[in-house]
Amino acid sequence: MSIKDNVKSIISSLPANVKLVAAVKTRSTKEVYEALEVGLKSIGHNYVQEAEAMYVDFYGSLDAAKSGLYSQLPWHCIGHLQKNKVKKAVKIFDIIETVDSLSLAKEISKRASAINKTIEILIEVNSAREEQKNGVMPEETLELIKKIKDLPNIKIKGLMTMGAFLSNPESIRPYFKVTKKLFDSIAQENIENVSMQVLSMGMSDSYRVAIEEGANVVRIGTKLFGLRNYKK
Ligand SMILES: *Cc1c(COP(=O)(O)O)cnc(C)c1O
Repeated sequence: MSIKDNVKSIISSLPANVKLVAAVKTRSTKEVYEALEVGLKSIGHNYVQEAEAMYVDFYGSLDAAKSGLYSQLPWHCIGHLQKNKVKKAVKIFDIIETVDSLSLAKEISKRASAINKTIEILIEVNSAREEQKNGVMPEETLELIKKIKDLPNIKIKGLMTMGAFLSNPESIRPYFKVTKKLFDSIAQENIENVSMQVLSMGMSDSYRVAIEEGANVVRIGTKLFGLRNYKK
């Protein structure tokens, strides 16, 4: 199947409340345009350097405002973000899904303020509690949210999780469940400046399970574009 066929078939299979974010790491601008031409509405990058190159292809330069056909396209940061990349990241991204520390949130706030932009953020939850993983532990999530919610030029919109790297999507289900439970309990607190609207979980192999467990954003790469070409 072609990229266009894949995108059309995934989009038509998603429930109306679920948004598709294409995970575009290693893909060319041309491949991403193909997906956008048939209805893709958001893209997600893991690496600032790759995102920057694609941003330049799209809009002319890193300092150019978004214009043209894709002026409204939301760019999601879905990879771990290093603090020294935040200055560039806030120019590129509209939503950063991988905030897991106060210091990262402060840096995003500072750099976003400097360019007069408000960045939406999701808190990345380490639902599988893996030592080497990014993300904040479930029981520390609320506390982190309370610490960062009043920083200027950022807006907390929800949670993101990877779950565990397991090949059987059923084995990942418990981690999605934990994250949804946390999402609901934080929403119930009705915290000022915090809106729990977005729950980003699920990838090519696990998005169906994630949707069953309450995801309303799924991040899909391989099922849209085929196997990744790391040679590039
Ligand atoms: C690569 C990636 C995805 C998509 O993975 P696929 O298995 O190719 O669908 C989703 N989320 C994140 C954070 C990723 O890095």
